[in-house]
Amino acid sequence: MNYIEKFIKSSFSIDKNVVTDCFLHYDKNRDGFLDAHEFEVFLNDTFSDSGGTNNIQYEMAAAILKQLDEDQDNKLSKSEFYKSWRYWLKYVLNPVTALLVIDVQNDFINGSLALNGYPAGHDGYDVIPVINKMLGEIPFDVVMYSKDWHPPNHISFGENVKLRPLHETSKVSSDDAKVGDTVVFRGPPITEQCLWPTHCVQNSKGAEIHCDLKIVEGSYVVNKGTNPEVDSYSAFWDNNKLSQTELVNLLSKHHVTDVYVCGLAYDVCVGFTALHSVEHGFRTVFIEDACRGVTQEGMEKMSDNLKGNGIVIAQSNEVKNLVEARHRNLQLGLQAAKNMALGREMAQSRPSVI
Ligand SMILES: [Zn+2]
Repeated sequence: MNYIEKFIKSSFSIDKNVVTDCFLHYDKNRDGFLDAHEFEVFLNDTFSDSGGTNNIQYEMAAAILKQLDEDQDNKLSKSEFYKSWRYWLKYVLNPVTALLVIDVQNDFINGSLALNGYPAGHDGYDVIPVINKMLGEIPFDVVMYSKDWHPPNHISFGENVKLRPLHETSKVSSDDAKVGDTVVFRGPPITEQCLWPTHCVQNSKGAEIHCDLKIVEGSYVVNKGTNPEVDSYSAFWDNNKLSQTELVNLLSKHHVTDVYVCGLAYDVCVGFTALHSVEHGFRTVFIEDACRGVTQEGMEKMSDNLKGNGIVIAQSNEVKNLVEARHRNLQLGLQAAKNMALGREMAQSRPSVI
C-alpha cells in the first residue's frame, strides 16, 4: 500500500511515521529536503493527471511547491511537508463538494429569453438530462440552484430603459435603445448595462425552475438579481459587487472546498459565477457539457477567461471521479496549495485526527 492509500484508509489521520517514511522515500539525495524535482516525483505518484515528465509538469510542481514552502527557500523541509499533509493534501484527497445549478428557468428555455433565439442557437433544455444524470450518480455534499429573480422595474429590461437617466457616455440614447444594445446609466454608480427582454420576473411562470429538472432533497435555492438598480450575472455578487447573495455563507456553512458549476448561460451567468467562486477561494470546476450559451464568441472568450483564472473545465462524465477524488487534478491541487498559503482552511469541521 502506498503512502496516499494509507492516508485515505486511515480517514486522514496523520501518522507522523507514515509522513516521515514518505518524506524519506522521495528525498532521493538524502539532504533532508524535497526540492522541486523530488517533489515532482511525489506529485506524479499522487495526482492522476500528472503522468510523464516534461517542462509544464516541472513548472506546475514548482508552482505548487512555492505555495507550500513557508520560508521560500525553494524546497520543502520535513516540517513543511508535514504541514502540507495537514492543510493541503487532506483537502486534495477529501474535498467537500457543491454543485451549483445556475438559472435553469423557463424563460431561458422556452420563454422570453430562450437561448435558441440567440446566435449560438443552443437549446437551454439540453442541460437538463445532463444535470439530472449527474444528480442521480454523483455524491455531491450539497446542491444549490440559483434563480434569476427580478422585480418588474429591473434595470436590465429593455422596456425599462426610460425609467433611469442615461450617462452622457452612453452610445445609444433612451429613444433609440432596444433589446441587445448596451447603454450606460447615470447612476450613481455609473452602470453599463446590456438590455435584455423582460425575463424571470419574480413569481412569474417564466422565473420557475424548469419542471423536468431534478430538485434534490436538502438542496438550496438562491435568488439573484433582486435589486432593481443592478444586474447580477453571478450567483455570488451583483455586477457592481455592491451586494452579495447568501451563497457564500451557505457554502461556508457546509465547509465546501470545491464548487462545480453548470446551467444557463455559459458565457453569462454560469461563467461569472465560476469566476467569483474562484475569487472566493473555492476550487472551481466548470462542467462544460452541462452548460449552453448565448454566442459562440462569448463562450470562447469566457472559456479563456476561466482557464486564465485557474478554473478547471471538465465534461460531466469526468465529474464523478473528481468529486470522489479518484481523479486528482493538478490545477485543483495548485488551488488548494494557494488556499493553504493564504491560511484558508475552509473545511475546519472535518474530523482532523493528528
Ligand atoms: Zn436577468
